[in-house]
Amino acid sequence: MYPASFEYVAPATLEEALDTLGRYEDDAKVLAGGQSLIPLMKLRLAAPRVVVDINRLPGLDTLAEEDGGLRIGALVRHKACEKSELLGGRWGTLGAAAPLISDPIIRNLGTVCGSLAHADPQGDWGSALLAMDAEVVARSPDGTRTIPLRELFQGPFVTTLEPTEIITEVRVPDPGPTAGGTYLKLERKVGDFATVGVAVHLSMDDGRVGRAGIALTAVGPTNLRATAAEEALAGRELTDEAVREAARLAAQAAQPYSDTRGSADYKRTVVRVFTERGLRAAAEALGRPVPGRSAADSVSRTTEEALETTDRQDYFSGEETLAGVMDELEEKPGGPDGGER
Ligand SMILES: Cc1cc2nc3c(=O)[nH]c(=O)nc-3n(C[C@H](O)[C@H](O)[C@H](O)COP(=O)(O)OP(=O)(O)OC[C@H]3O[C@@H](n4cnc5c(N)ncnc54)[C@H](O)[C@@H]3O)c2cc1C
Repeated sequence: MYPASFEYVAPATLEEALDTLGRYEDDAKVLAGGQSLIPLMKLRLAAPRVVVDINRLPGLDTLAEEDGGLRIGALVRHKACEKSELLGGRWGTLGAAAPLISDPIIRNLGTVCGSLAHADPQGDWGSALLAMDAEVVARSPDGTRTIPLRELFQGPFVTTLEPTEIITEVRVPDPGPTAGGTYLKLERKVGDFATVGVAVHLSMDDGRVGRAGIALTAVGPTNLRATAAEEALAGRELTDEAVREAARLAAQAAQPYSDTRGSADYKRTVVRVFTERGLRAAAEALGRPVPGRSAADSVSRTTEEALETTDRQDYFSGEETLAGVMDELEEKPGGPDGGER
């Protein structure tokens, strides 16, 4: 279906963009990557009178550390995050999420901030950035404010943003020197939205967990923080018992419903298993003994290997080229060389 007719403006400055939004208010929509807005307009679920394309605005493509924290500008694409060497180590939760978002075409165009503004409970960035305690910077004709992500998401596709506001960047606070994490996603096939996703972040303090961030994708009306699980870990050593307890609490925090992707019980179980795996992977990435695994096993794999194996939840998950998929398929039981399926 074609979208309803609309006026298209491509301002050259942020002030001009804000001026247009101020004049049209509810009748205007910001266009960033267009990967969610355009399908909605084609389905006539959105019919703005004016579309304000922000792609020509200068200075919104920053992906950089500043004062120990991280800034991700409104025009930073999923692909830029996937390719960024910055998003490992302390920012490992974000680096692990980026290649799992949809497929290469969507990743080339879609933006991190657009994903947050869209507020899809199945969006991956919402959880990865919630786990890292991020906030967005929103500009309007009236000024600038920051909104913590835990206050941004109000419900499915509903945020506390005003129609006249543009998210100019998302800021992630300094996680401290000893920090890391990962993102685990179960998808039916590559390119699909999450059946379940779990973001895990740990900031360590003197050998104990200083701050834990655990957030859940596709198991509630918004991306959810598993607050009780986070609190259960704070100040504790990362023992097997602590990991299991946090995973149990994370599963309790999930609010899944049954659908074609799986039953509510199944999804809750996946949350528990992924939280355990994520915490163990984070411990390993931080060079700490892995809870529930002997010391000899723990030192046998590098950080990259540890994260690599936890990223790959499914056949082909994370692969972006046909050659990559075929290579992976060759290595699978029942691959194209005729093994059993
Ligand atoms: C087939 C398909 C599969 C997908 N799979 C996944 C997936 O697996 N995981 C995932 O996380 N996402 C997935 N997506 C969504 C994709 O990541 C989108 O890119 C993202 O949700 C929106 O980003 P965008 O830049 O394209 O935003 P747009 O489509 O341009 O905008 C989306 C909404 O956000 C608003 N908006 C955008 N930028 C701003 C801003 N700076 N300030 C204020 N408002 C703004 C727009 O007005 C609009 O309401 C998928 C999309 C498609 C079409």
